Amino acid sequence: MRVEIITVGSELLLGEILNTNSQYLSEELNRLGYSVLYQTTVGDNKTRLAQALQLALQRADLVITSGGLGPTQGDLTKFVGAQVMRTPLYFDEGVYKAIEQWLQRRYTSPVITENQKRQAMIPQGATVFSNEAGTAPGTALQKKGKTLVHLPGPPRELQWMFRQRLKPYLLRQFGSQGYIASQYIKVYDLGESLIEERLSDLERQQQNPTLAIYARPGFVEVRITAKAASEEAANTMLQPLQKEVERRLARRIVTYNKETVAHVLGRLLKAGHWHISAAESCTGGLIGSLLTDIPGASDYFLGTIGTYTDEMKQQLVHVPASLLASCTAISAPVAAAMAVGSRQLYGADIALSTTGLAGPGGGTETRPIGLVYTGVSGPWGTVTHKNIYMGDRREIKLRAAVRAIYYGVQ
Ligand code: ATP
Ligand code: MG
Repeated sequence: MRVEIITVGSELLLGEILNTNSQYLSEELNRLGYSVLYQTTVGDNKTRLAQALQLALQRADLVITSGGLGPTQGDLTKFVGAQVMRTPLYFDEGVYKAIEQWLQRRYTSPVITENQKRQAMIPQGATVFSNEAGTAPGTALQKKGKTLVHLPGPPRELQWMFRQRLKPYLLRQFGSQGYIASQYIKVYDLGESLIEERLSDLERQQQNPTLAIYARPGFVEVRITAKAASEEAANTMLQPLQKEVERRLARRIVTYNKETVAHVLGRLLKAGHWHISAAESCTGGLIGSLLTDIPGASDYFLGTIGTYTDEMKQQLVHVPASLLASCTAISAPVAAAMAVGSRQLYGADIALSTTGLAGPGGGTETRPIGLVYTGVSGPWGTVTHKNIYMGDRREIKLRAAVRAIYYGVQ
């Protein structure tokens, strides 16, 4: 099944909104084993939309559009679609009643405009996908071996309609075309280029399963994907490649799939009945935020203290003024003192700390932007780590926080 997705909307071309519909549809369709070969975006323009549809119907079996199903004159998709498919539209009384009822349920005195009738125009012979998440119904029209599907633009409506209407329709009409299984391996302390180097031959060789490497904030993700007739067969196909990846990366692998390093730290702390705290400067509370993303974090996470200024570092976690003066706040001794201070303050077994320069200003030759010292203090003593993170301010903060948690695991 060759698929093309056409997202319609000038706002997409203007860069005003992120095209999440393409991403969502591609992910879901690939899961069904359908091959998405093209993603096209086109503005609210009759001629260009007609051209895009024509081309798509030549090179794909299934064309799915998103957007432009609204009641206004600018919403053209269904009308242009019918023209390209050489199919007349008719006014569907039942669809109109459903739209009326939907509006009446939602608004105390709905103004049902004449325009609303546009949404009840249906291509002859099309399957109608009623919409419980909004007014615009979706449609699917099959003709001469091609299928043209129209879905509404608002992501909430599109996703609802895919799950509740289009997916069952596709499975009825064409069945699942195999199963795609993916395994995500997250590596925290090895850069993308090093991983690339160790795995590049696997990345090039593989047809099925395939391997891909992505840089994420604070870690690198290795994705292994296999396609087979059943879920079980796909999972079995993954295993040899996964073993090989694990062998080559040695013990550097920390988490799998949706799991984060915060989950791992949480599990370790819980098992040992340990408690953790933090003192954060440049990460501004992100360590606490990431740790509390895990349900049940109160079993082991005591709190994080924000010590952004030199004064607060002195007052709250007792970093000696002399140390701040001699080493400056962004230094290994200060990171160490912050971790020790937080551990005492909270009565924690382990404490993490960060102090660094997130930019964009203030970088120098010796103290570049992205320079972050992380402290880890525990019953065994206190260690610090120095890193220079790439990215903008937010990315540097996130990388530093993820890495601090990683150091906590070690
Ligand atoms: P409506 O009845 O709300 O007009 P519609 O089917 O005509 O629905 P559009 O007008 O194209 O859809 O889009 C409605 C809104 O949905 C847009 O303002 C935009 O916020 C969002 N949207 C549209 N297309 C996309 C897309 N591809 N990705 C993410 N959001 C989108
Ligand atoms: Mg619209």
